[in-house]
Amino acid sequence: MKLCEKEKCTGCRACENSCPKDAIKMVFTDELKTVPHIDSSKCAECGLCKKSCPVLNESKFVEPISCLAAWTLDSHDKETCASGGIATALYRSVLKHGGVVYGCDYDNELKPIIRRSENVNDLEKFKTSKYVQSSTERTYIEVKKDLTSGCTVLYVGTPCQIDGLNHFLNKKYENLFTVDIICHGVSPYRYLQDYILSLGLKKNVTYATFRGKNDYCLSLYEKNDLFWVRASEDDYYLNSFLKGITFRDNCYNCRYAGKERISDLTIGDFWGINRKKLKKAYDGKVSVILVNSEAGRKLLDMSEDMLYTEERLLDEALRYNEQLNHPMAVHSDRCAFLKNLNKGVYRALKSTKTGRMISKRRIKNALKRVILYKNIAR
Ligand SMILES: Cc1cc2nc3c(=O)[nH]c(=O)nc-3n(C[C@H](O)[C@H](O)[C@H](O)COP(=O)(O)OP(=O)(O)OC[C@H]3O[C@@H](n4cnc5c(N)ncnc54)[C@H](O)[C@@H]3O)c2cc1C
Ligand code: SF4
Ligand code: SF4
Ligand code: SF4
Repeated sequence: MKLCEKEKCTGCRACENSCPKDAIKMVFTDELKTVPHIDSSKCAECGLCKKSCPVLNESKFVEPISCLAAWTLDSHDKETCASGGIATALYRSVLKHGGVVYGCDYDNELKPIIRRSENVNDLEKFKTSKYVQSSTERTYIEVKKDLTSGCTVLYVGTPCQIDGLNHFLNKKYENLFTVDIICHGVSPYRYLQDYILSLGLKKNVTYATFRGKNDYCLSLYEKNDLFWVRASEDDYYLNSFLKGITFRDNCYNCRYAGKERISDLTIGDFWGINRKKLKKAYDGKVSVILVNSEAGRKLLDMSEDMLYTEERLLDEALRYNEQLNHPMAVHSDRCAFLKNLNKGVYRALKSTKTGRMISKRRIKNALKRVILYKNIAR
Protein backbone atom coordinates (compact mmCIF):
# COMPACT_ATOMS: atom_id res chain seq x y z
CA MET A 1 0.00 0.00 0.00
CA LYS A 2 1.34 3.42 -0.94
CA LEU A 3 0.18 6.65 0.71
CA CYS A 4 0.67 10.21 -0.58
CA GLU A 5 4.12 11.61 -1.35
CA LYS A 6 6.09 12.66 1.74
CA GLU A 7 6.51 16.20 0.41
CA LYS A 8 2.71 16.63 0.26
CA CYS A 9 1.81 14.90 3.53
CA THR A 10 0.45 17.28 6.18
CA GLY A 11 0.86 14.76 9.02
CA CYS A 12 -2.87 14.90 9.80
CA ARG A 13 -2.93 11.20 10.79
CA ALA A 14 -6.28 10.44 9.13
CA CYS A 15 -4.64 7.37 7.56
CA GLU A 16 -3.35 6.10 10.91
CA ASN A 17 -6.71 6.71 12.62
CA SER A 18 -8.52 4.77 9.90
CA CYS A 19 -6.32 1.65 9.85
CA PRO A 20 -8.17 -1.35 11.37
CA LYS A 21 -4.93 -3.35 11.66
CA ASP A 22 -2.89 -0.74 13.54
CA ALA A 23 -0.34 -1.06 10.75
CA ILE A 24 0.49 2.67 10.50
CA LYS A 25 2.92 4.53 12.74
CA MET A 26 4.25 8.05 12.38
CA VAL A 27 8.01 8.29 11.78
CA PHE A 28 10.46 11.17 11.33
CA THR A 29 11.98 12.32 8.04
CA ASP A 30 15.51 13.79 7.86
CA GLU A 31 13.89 17.21 8.38
CA LEU A 32 12.23 15.82 11.55
CA LYS A 33 8.70 16.12 10.23
CA THR A 34 6.27 13.31 10.98
CA VAL A 35 4.96 11.11 8.15
CA PRO A 36 3.17 7.75 8.21
CA HIS A 37 4.96 4.45 7.76
CA ILE A 38 3.08 1.24 6.93
CA ASP A 39 4.21 -2.03 8.50
CA SER A 40 3.56 -4.32 5.52
CA SER A 41 3.54 -7.43 7.75
CA LYS A 42 0.39 -6.09 9.46
CA CYS A 43 -1.30 -4.51 6.41
CA ALA A 44 -4.41 -6.25 5.00
CA GLU A 45 -4.45 -4.09 1.81
CA CYS A 46 -7.98 -2.89 2.65
CA GLY A 47 -7.28 0.60 1.25
CA LEU A 48 -9.03 2.51 4.06
CA CYS A 49 -5.95 4.63 4.74
CA LYS A 50 -5.83 5.81 1.14
CA LYS A 51 -9.55 6.61 1.16
CA SER A 52 -9.15 8.85 4.20
CA CYS A 53 -6.12 10.83 2.99
CA PRO A 54 -7.04 14.44 2.11
CA VAL A 55 -4.10 14.68 -0.28
CA LEU A 56 -5.28 11.72 -2.34
CA ASN A 57 -8.99 12.60 -2.32
CA GLU A 58 -11.03 15.67 -3.15
CA SER A 59 -11.88 18.09 -0.37
CA LYS A 60 -15.07 20.11 -0.16
CA PHE A 61 -14.13 23.80 -0.20
CA VAL A 62 -16.82 26.50 0.20
CA GLU A 63 -16.89 30.30 -0.06
CA PRO A 64 -17.69 32.06 3.23
CA ILE A 65 -21.33 33.13 3.70
CA SER A 66 -20.30 36.12 5.80
CA CYS A 67 -17.34 37.81 7.44
CA LEU A 68 -17.36 39.14 11.01
CA ALA A 69 -15.11 41.17 13.26
CA ALA A 70 -15.35 39.68 16.74
CA TRP A 71 -13.96 39.50 20.25
CA THR A 72 -14.68 37.82 23.55
CA LEU A 73 -16.84 39.49 26.20
CA ASP A 74 -14.78 37.87 28.97
CA SER A 75 -12.17 40.26 30.42
CA HIS A 76 -9.76 37.48 31.53
CA ASP A 77 -9.91 35.74 28.12
CA LYS A 78 -9.33 39.10 26.43
CA GLU A 79 -5.88 39.29 28.08
CA THR A 80 -4.86 35.65 27.83
CA CYS A 81 -6.08 34.36 24.45
CA ALA A 82 -4.09 34.36 21.21
CA SER A 83 -6.32 36.77 19.37
CA GLY A 84 -9.93 37.84 20.08
CA GLY A 85 -10.61 34.80 22.29
CA ILE A 86 -13.06 33.27 19.81
CA ALA A 87 -11.97 29.65 20.21
CA THR A 88 -12.24 29.85 24.00
CA ALA A 89 -15.68 31.48 23.81
CA LEU A 90 -16.93 28.74 21.44
CA TYR A 91 -15.52 26.05 23.75
CA ARG A 92 -17.26 27.64 26.75
CA SER A 93 -20.55 27.70 24.88
CA VAL A 94 -20.40 24.05 23.73
CA LEU A 95 -19.43 22.87 27.22
CA LYS A 96 -22.29 24.92 28.69
CA HIS A 97 -24.64 23.12 26.32
CA GLY A 98 -23.37 19.72 27.51
CA GLY A 99 -21.03 18.96 24.58
CA VAL A 100 -17.37 17.91 24.36
CA VAL A 101 -14.51 19.93 22.90
CA TYR A 102 -11.14 19.21 21.27
CA GLY A 103 -8.21 21.60 21.55
CA CYS A 104 -4.45 21.85 21.61
CA ASP A 105 -2.46 21.29 24.82
CA TYR A 106 1.08 19.99 25.52
CA ASP A 107 1.83 16.45 26.67
CA ASN A 108 4.46 15.90 29.37
CA GLU A 109 7.29 16.08 26.79
CA LEU A 110 6.20 19.49 25.50
CA LYS A 111 4.71 17.99 22.36
CA PRO A 112 1.52 19.82 21.36
CA ILE A 113 -1.36 17.39 21.04
CA ILE A 114 -5.04 17.75 20.28
CA ARG A 115 -7.06 16.31 23.13
CA ARG A 116 -10.64 15.86 24.22
CA SER A 117 -12.21 17.63 27.16
CA GLU A 118 -15.51 17.94 28.97
CA ASN A 119 -14.04 20.20 31.62
CA VAL A 120 -14.03 24.00 31.52
CA ASN A 121 -10.78 24.07 33.56
CA ASP A 122 -8.89 22.60 30.58
CA LEU A 123 -9.62 25.69 28.51
CA GLU A 124 -6.70 27.62 30.04
CA LYS A 125 -4.36 25.02 28.48
CA PHE A 126 -6.06 25.16 25.08
CA LYS A 127 -5.67 28.94 24.94
CA THR A 128 -3.14 30.74 22.74
CA SER A 129 -1.39 29.67 19.55
CA LYS A 130 1.29 27.03 19.90
CA TYR A 131 3.66 27.80 17.04
CA VAL A 132 4.54 24.15 16.53
CA GLN A 133 2.76 21.32 14.75
CA SER A 134 0.27 19.66 17.06
CA SER A 135 -0.47 15.97 16.76
CA THR A 136 -4.06 14.83 16.30
CA GLU A 137 -3.16 11.52 18.01
CA ARG A 138 -6.23 9.19 17.98
CA THR A 139 -8.74 12.03 18.31
CA TYR A 140 -10.54 11.33 15.01
CA ILE A 141 -11.55 7.93 16.41
CA GLU A 142 -12.67 9.58 19.66
CA VAL A 143 -14.71 12.18 17.74
CA LYS A 144 -16.51 9.45 15.80
CA LYS A 145 -17.38 7.68 19.06
CA ASP A 146 -18.71 10.93 20.54
CA LEU A 147 -20.75 11.71 17.44
CA THR A 148 -22.32 8.28 17.17
CA SER A 149 -23.28 8.40 20.85
CA GLY A 150 -25.20 11.63 20.08
CA CYS A 151 -22.81 14.04 21.80
CA THR A 152 -22.31 17.58 20.47
CA VAL A 153 -18.65 17.99 19.43
CA LEU A 154 -16.54 21.09 18.76
CA TYR A 155 -13.17 20.40 17.09
CA VAL A 156 -10.73 23.29 16.58
CA GLY A 157 -7.52 22.81 14.61
CA THR A 158 -5.44 23.84 11.64
CA PRO A 159 -7.25 23.53 8.27
CA CYS A 160 -5.33 20.37 7.32
CA GLN A 161 -6.31 18.76 10.65
CA ILE A 162 -9.98 19.61 10.06
CA ASP A 163 -9.78 18.27 6.52
CA GLY A 164 -8.19 15.09 7.87
CA LEU A 165 -11.15 14.75 10.24
CA ASN A 166 -13.64 15.41 7.41
CA HIS A 167 -12.08 12.68 5.28
CA PHE A 168 -11.83 10.25 8.18
CA LEU A 169 -15.54 10.70 9.05
CA ASN A 170 -16.54 10.72 5.37
CA LYS A 171 -20.06 11.96 6.16
CA LYS A 172 -21.79 14.98 7.63
CA TYR A 173 -22.87 14.81 11.29
CA GLU A 174 -25.48 17.29 12.56
CA ASN A 175 -23.86 17.30 16.01
CA LEU A 176 -20.33 18.22 14.81
CA PHE A 177 -18.96 21.78 14.69
CA THR A 178 -15.58 22.31 13.04
CA VAL A 179 -13.46 25.46 13.36
CA ASP A 180 -10.17 26.00 11.54
CA ILE A 181 -7.59 28.60 12.50
CA ILE A 182 -6.06 30.62 9.67
CA CYS A 183 -2.59 29.09 9.42
CA HIS A 184 0.67 30.23 7.85
CA GLY A 185 2.49 27.00 8.63
CA VAL A 186 3.82 24.82 11.44
CA SER A 187 7.25 23.64 12.49
CA PRO A 188 7.89 20.01 13.44
CA TYR A 189 7.47 19.67 17.21
CA ARG A 190 10.96 18.24 17.63
CA TYR A 191 12.39 21.68 16.69
CA LEU A 192 10.91 23.31 19.78
CA GLN A 193 11.86 20.43 22.08
CA ASP A 194 15.43 20.41 20.78
CA TYR A 195 15.71 24.22 20.92
CA ILE A 196 14.53 24.44 24.52
CA LEU A 197 16.95 21.67 25.56
CA SER A 198 19.81 23.69 24.01
CA LEU A 199 18.94 26.72 26.17
CA GLY A 200 20.34 24.78 29.16
CA LEU A 201 17.63 25.99 31.53
CA LYS A 202 17.67 24.77 35.12
CA LYS A 203 13.89 24.38 35.29
CA ASN A 204 11.69 21.81 33.63
CA VAL A 205 9.63 23.45 30.87
CA THR A 206 6.06 22.15 30.98
CA TYR A 207 4.28 24.85 28.95
CA ALA A 208 5.27 27.41 26.30
CA THR A 209 3.36 30.32 24.79
CA PHE A 210 4.00 32.58 21.80
CA ARG A 211 0.91 34.79 21.84
CA GLY A 212 -1.49 35.95 24.57
CA LYS A 213 -0.25 37.85 27.62
CA ASN A 214 3.29 38.28 26.29
CA ASP A 215 2.30 38.63 22.65
CA TYR A 216 4.96 37.48 20.14
CA CYS A 217 7.35 36.37 22.89
CA LEU A 218 8.54 32.86 23.63
CA SER A 219 7.43 32.41 27.26
CA LEU A 220 8.39 29.29 29.20
CA TYR A 221 6.63 27.90 32.25
CA GLU A 222 7.33 25.27 34.86
CA LYS A 223 3.80 24.32 35.87
CA ASN A 224 2.16 27.74 36.47
CA ASP A 225 5.44 29.57 37.08
CA LEU A 226 6.48 31.80 34.16
CA PHE A 227 10.29 31.87 34.47
CA TRP A 228 11.70 32.78 31.01
CA VAL A 229 10.50 35.29 28.39
CA ARG A 230 12.20 36.42 25.19
CA ALA A 231 10.76 38.74 22.53
CA SER A 232 10.54 37.45 18.95
CA GLU A 233 13.20 39.87 17.63
CA ASP A 234 15.73 38.31 20.04
CA ASP A 235 14.66 34.69 19.85
CA TYR A 236 16.08 32.36 17.20
CA TYR A 237 13.15 29.93 17.27
CA LEU A 238 10.24 32.38 17.24
CA ASN A 239 11.83 34.82 14.79
CA SER A 240 12.64 32.06 12.32
CA PHE A 241 9.17 30.58 12.70
CA LEU A 242 7.44 33.90 12.02
CA LYS A 243 9.60 34.46 8.95
CA GLY A 244 8.68 31.06 7.55
CA ILE A 245 12.14 29.46 7.68
CA THR A 246 11.24 26.34 9.65
CA PHE A 247 7.87 25.03 8.45
CA ARG A 248 7.05 21.54 7.24
CA ASP A 249 7.82 21.57 3.50
CA ASN A 250 4.17 20.88 2.57
CA CYS A 251 3.09 24.16 4.25
CA TYR A 252 4.77 26.19 1.49
CA ASN A 253 2.26 24.67 -0.93
CA CYS A 254 -0.70 24.68 1.44
CA ARG A 255 -3.97 24.23 -0.43
CA TYR A 256 -5.97 25.66 2.49
CA ALA A 257 -4.39 29.12 2.13
CA GLY A 258 -7.25 30.72 0.22
CA LYS A 259 -10.65 32.22 0.75
CA GLU A 260 -12.50 28.91 0.14
CA ARG A 261 -12.69 27.01 3.42
CA ILE A 262 -13.36 23.47 4.67
CA SER A 263 -14.81 24.13 8.18
CA ASP A 264 -18.02 25.56 9.61
CA LEU A 265 -16.12 28.59 10.92
CA THR A 266 -12.67 29.99 10.19
CA ILE A 267 -10.99 32.17 12.82
CA GLY A 268 -7.86 34.31 12.76
CA ASP A 269 -6.45 37.76 13.39
CA PHE A 270 -8.31 40.62 11.73
CA TRP A 271 -5.14 42.23 10.38
CA GLY A 272 -5.51 45.81 9.14
CA ILE A 273 -9.07 46.32 10.36
CA ASN A 274 -10.19 49.93 10.34
CA ARG A 275 -10.95 50.30 14.07
CA LYS A 276 -12.42 53.75 13.58
CA LYS A 277 -15.25 52.16 11.60
CA LEU A 278 -16.13 49.60 14.29
CA LYS A 279 -19.65 50.14 15.63
CA LYS A 280 -18.35 49.52 19.15
CA ALA A 281 -15.01 50.90 20.39
CA TYR A 282 -12.57 48.21 21.58
CA ASP A 283 -8.95 48.32 22.77
CA GLY A 284 -8.19 44.58 22.61
CA LYS A 285 -7.27 42.19 19.81
CA VAL A 286 -9.90 41.84 17.08
CA SER A 287 -10.44 38.48 15.37
CA VAL A 288 -11.94 37.66 12.02
CA ILE A 289 -14.61 34.96 11.79
CA LEU A 290 -15.56 33.55 8.39
CA VAL A 291 -18.97 31.86 8.57
CA ASN A 292 -18.82 29.02 6.08
CA SER A 293 -21.97 26.98 6.78
CA GLU A 294 -25.34 27.01 8.52
CA ALA A 295 -23.78 24.90 11.29
CA GLY A 296 -21.23 27.68 11.79
CA ARG A 297 -24.03 30.21 12.08
CA LYS A 298 -25.79 27.99 14.62
CA LEU A 299 -22.62 27.72 16.71
CA LEU A 300 -22.31 31.51 16.76
CA ASP A 301 -25.98 31.86 17.77
CA MET A 302 -25.32 29.44 20.64
CA SER A 303 -22.37 31.62 21.71
CA GLU A 304 -23.97 35.07 21.41
CA ASP A 305 -23.70 35.76 25.17
CA MET A 306 -19.91 35.13 24.99
CA LEU A 307 -18.91 37.12 21.90
CA TYR A 308 -19.30 40.54 20.34
CA THR A 309 -19.61 40.29 16.54
CA GLU A 310 -20.26 42.71 13.72
CA GLU A 311 -20.51 42.18 9.99
CA ARG A 312 -17.60 43.37 7.79
CA LEU A 313 -16.78 43.05 4.13
CA LEU A 314 -14.85 39.88 3.24
CA ASP A 315 -12.48 41.96 1.13
CA GLU A 316 -11.30 43.81 4.23
CA ALA A 317 -10.22 40.50 5.81
CA LEU A 318 -8.63 39.25 2.59
CA ARG A 319 -6.63 42.41 1.98
CA TYR A 320 -4.16 42.02 4.85
CA ASN A 321 -4.29 38.33 5.72
CA GLU A 322 -1.84 36.61 3.37
CA GLN A 323 -2.96 33.12 4.34
CA LEU A 324 -6.45 33.85 3.02
CA ASN A 325 -4.83 34.45 -0.40
CA HIS A 326 -1.79 32.22 -0.82
CA PRO A 327 0.68 30.06 1.16
CA MET A 328 3.78 31.49 2.81
CA ALA A 329 6.79 31.81 0.49
CA VAL A 330 9.91 29.76 1.17
CA HIS A 331 12.37 32.03 3.01
CA SER A 332 15.84 32.44 1.55
CA ASP A 333 17.35 31.20 4.86
CA ARG A 334 15.60 27.84 4.71
CA CYS A 335 18.34 26.19 2.71
CA ALA A 336 21.05 27.12 5.25
CA PHE A 337 18.80 26.02 8.11
CA LEU A 338 18.18 22.57 6.62
CA LYS A 339 21.84 22.15 5.66
CA ASN A 340 22.87 22.63 9.29
CA LEU A 341 20.00 20.75 10.91
CA ASN A 342 22.21 17.71 11.57
CA LYS A 343 24.17 19.92 14.03
CA GLY A 344 21.01 20.45 16.10
CA VAL A 345 18.15 22.94 15.79
CA TYR A 346 19.78 25.67 17.87
CA ARG A 347 22.97 25.73 15.82
CA ALA A 348 21.03 25.48 12.56
CA LEU A 349 18.92 28.49 13.53
CA LYS A 350 22.01 30.49 14.50
CA SER A 351 23.74 29.62 11.23
CA THR A 352 21.27 31.47 8.99
CA LYS A 353 21.44 35.15 7.97
CA THR A 354 18.48 35.79 10.28
CA GLY A 355 20.24 33.93 13.09
CA ARG A 356 23.44 35.94 12.67
CA MET A 357 21.45 39.20 12.73
CA ILE A 358 19.80 38.15 15.99
CA SER A 359 23.20 37.25 17.50
CA LYS A 360 24.57 40.68 16.53
CA ARG A 361 21.58 42.48 18.01
CA ARG A 362 21.85 40.52 21.24
CA ILE A 363 25.57 41.32 21.61
CA LYS A 364 24.86 45.01 20.90
CA ASN A 365 22.08 45.08 23.49
CA ALA A 366 24.26 43.29 26.05
CA LEU A 367 27.04 45.89 25.53
CA LYS A 368 24.51 48.72 25.91
CA ARG A 369 23.36 47.21 29.21
CA VAL A 370 26.98 46.97 30.49
CA ILE A 371 27.64 50.63 29.58
CA LEU A 372 24.39 51.73 31.22
CA TYR A 373 25.22 49.73 34.36
CA LYS A 374 28.73 51.25 34.54
CA ASN A 375 27.30 54.78 34.15
CA ILE A 376 24.81 54.16 36.97
CA ALA A 377 27.53 52.65 39.19
CA ARG A 378 29.79 55.72 38.79
C1 LIG B 1 0.56 27.61 13.85
C2 LIG B 1 -0.40 28.75 13.77
C3 LIG B 1 -0.31 29.67 12.72
C4 LIG B 1 -1.21 30.74 12.62
N1 LIG B 1 -1.13 31.61 11.57
C5 LIG B 1 -2.04 32.61 11.44
C6 LIG B 1 -2.03 33.49 10.32
O1 LIG B 1 -1.18 33.39 9.46
N2 LIG B 1 -3.00 34.45 10.22
C7 LIG B 1 -3.97 34.57 11.16
O2 LIG B 1 -4.84 35.44 11.03
N3 LIG B 1 -4.02 33.75 12.23
C8 LIG B 1 -3.08 32.78 12.39
N4 LIG B 1 -3.13 31.93 13.46
C9 LIG B 1 -4.33 31.99 14.31
C10 LIG B 1 -4.28 33.01 15.41
O3 LIG B 1 -2.97 33.19 15.89
C11 LIG B 1 -5.14 32.53 16.58
O4 LIG B 1 -4.70 31.26 16.98
C12 LIG B 1 -6.57 32.37 16.22
O5 LIG B 1 -7.08 33.60 15.77
C13 LIG B 1 -7.38 31.93 17.44
O6 LIG B 1 -7.31 32.95 18.38
P1 LIG B 1 -8.30 32.93 19.61
O7 LIG B 1 -7.95 34.06 20.51
O8 LIG B 1 -9.68 32.82 19.11
O9 LIG B 1 -7.88 31.53 20.28
P2 LIG B 1 -7.75 31.11 21.78
O10 LIG B 1 -9.07 31.32 22.45
O11 LIG B 1 -6.53 31.67 22.40
O12 LIG B 1 -7.53 29.52 21.58
C14 LIG B 1 -6.46 29.04 20.80
C15 LIG B 1 -6.99 28.00 19.84
O13 LIG B 1 -5.98 27.60 18.93
C16 LIG B 1 -5.82 26.18 18.97
N5 LIG B 1 -4.38 25.91 18.72
C17 LIG B 1 -3.33 26.54 19.29
N6 LIG B 1 -2.19 26.06 18.79
C18 LIG B 1 -2.52 25.09 17.90
C19 LIG B 1 -1.76 24.23 17.08
N7 LIG B 1 -0.43 24.26 17.05
N8 LIG B 1 -2.44 23.35 16.31
C20 LIG B 1 -3.79 23.30 16.32
N9 LIG B 1 -4.55 24.11 17.08
C21 LIG B 1 -3.92 24.99 17.85
C22 LIG B 1 -6.26 25.81 20.38
O14 LIG B 1 -6.65 24.46 20.44
C23 LIG B 1 -7.44 26.75 20.56
O15 LIG B 1 -8.56 26.23 19.92
C24 LIG B 1 -2.22 30.88 13.60
C25 LIG B 1 -2.28 29.98 14.66
C26 LIG B 1 -1.39 28.91 14.74
C27 LIG B 1 -1.51 27.93 15.88
S1 SF4 C 1 -4.41 -0.79 3.57
FE1 SF4 C 1 -5.75 -1.12 5.36
S2 SF4 C 1 -4.56 -2.42 6.70
FE2 SF4 C 1 -3.13 -1.63 5.20
S3 SF4 C 1 -2.27 0.15 6.21
FE3 SF4 C 1 -4.00 0.87 4.98
S4 SF4 C 1 -5.73 0.85 6.37
FE4 SF4 C 1 -4.11 -0.37 7.32
S1 SF4 D 1 -3.79 10.97 5.71
FE1 SF4 D 1 -2.64 12.75 6.44
S2 SF4 D 1 -0.86 11.83 7.50
FE2 SF4 D 1 -1.76 10.23 6.22
S3 SF4 D 1 -0.60 10.35 4.30
FE3 SF4 D 1 -2.44 11.60 4.03
S4 SF4 D 1 -1.80 13.66 4.60
FE4 SF4 D 1 -0.24 12.25 5.38
S1 SF4 E 1 0.06 25.75 6.44
FE1 SF4 E 1 -1.51 24.39 5.61
S2 SF4 E 1 -0.57 22.38 5.59
FE2 SF4 E 1 0.66 23.65 6.95
S3 SF4 E 1 -0.20 23.27 8.98
FE3 SF4 E 1 -1.22 25.07 8.15
S4 SF4 E 1 -3.05 24.26 7.19
FE4 SF4 E 1 -1.69 22.54 7.50
